[in-house]
Amino acid sequence: MFLFGRCSMQTAHWETIGVKQLMTRVKEEKMPFGWSINPYRGCAHGCGFCYARAFQSFIGMDSDDFQSRILVKENAAEALQRQLHRMAASRNFDLPVLAQDIGHIAIGTATDPYQSAEGSYKVTRECLKVLARYQVPFSITTRSPLVLRDLDVLADCRLLSINISLNTLDDGLIRSLEPGSPLSGQRLRAVRELRESGFRVGVFAAPILPLLGDSRSQLNELMQAVKASGAQFMMSSLLRLSPEVKNWYYSILREVAPEALPTYERIFQGAYAIRSYSEEIQCRVDELRRIHGLPHSASDHDAVGTTVRADGTAASVGGAAPCVEGAEPFIGGTTPCAGEAVVSVSGVVSEKPQGGTLHAKLFKLRERPGAGISPGRVVEVMEQMSLPI
Ligand code: SF4
Repeated sequence: MFLFGRCSMQTAHWETIGVKQLMTRVKEEKMPFGWSINPYRGCAHGCGFCYARAFQSFIGMDSDDFQSRILVKENAAEALQRQLHRMAASRNFDLPVLAQDIGHIAIGTATDPYQSAEGSYKVTRECLKVLARYQVPFSITTRSPLVLRDLDVLADCRLLSINISLNTLDDGLIRSLEPGSPLSGQRLRAVRELRESGFRVGVFAAPILPLLGDSRSQLNELMQAVKASGAQFMMSSLLRLSPEVKNWYYSILREVAPEALPTYERIFQGAYAIRSYSEEIQCRVDELRRIHGLPHSASDHDAVGTTVRADGTAASVGGAAPCVEGAEPFIGGTTPCAGEAVVSVSGVVSEKPQGGTLHAKLFKLRERPGAGISPGRVVEVMEQMSLPI
């Protein structure tokens, strides 16, 4: 039985900001994408387990602001246009070469690109139009059926996949832990409509939550529903609790499922679940995935280097990187909508990094009283570090 807790829906306050560039280079080799795009900062879905909450302190904001103070990158499409124009110009406007060099852009690595603000601001939609113009390959991760609004634009894009995040069918649990997210039925309907429209679509079962959504029967029901919706693949990741996220998540658990806390404290002695638990869940997921015929990535499902248009025809993406190549190790690092942290972030948050690395630079900025908290400077360092912002 789950009740609304601390995470219950707050009214989001939107602020518009300007950015110099939109696409951020992702240098972390374990990531299956080379660039990320986040049209917003903060996320009104407010998931209690979202790792992106931990980034708020880096830009001088309170982690409590994460779901209530949303920064809208109002000029995102213009910034993206400028960035892609520069990159295309340096390649003599050879767009297939540009697509090949860029590889895979992931939209929604630190915020949901289809959170409620998108309904009126249409920042993501305008960015899609730019991506269509340059024919660069990308994927979208979201918890919202609002993505269906943009099928007309997406049909002209080199879209690698649309990933709908869903980790439970328990709508009570969703309301407790994801106060601003659409419920499970809406997301599964979105999967079905996307498939019927001919797009490549999968589900991110992420994060799998100990005791709340990790039993064999819960995962079996989830996969049954995912399969029935027409999803072509399903990725999963385990919960990861960096210190800031752990505090927040436990405060919700204390209200909605206090009996689960001792188990969590046993499993999460650090940010990651202990190995015996991780292995047990991974085995369970793998077995059920086989039973339900759900590959763990889009690249397993169909040919690498093709994209599916709205009319169902396949089009070459010029040798671009497959959408979720190497997705199996996603227990350990993926996008926040996939409910998991970028691996490098935990070091920034909890340990003093060594040497003159950018990690060390950011750590120093954070430690210096007052001076280092200027959002601009910190954001700049985060961009260099390929941290999603
Ligand atoms: S997990 Fe995704 S939808 Fe949830 S708060 Fe984080 S970015 Fe938003």
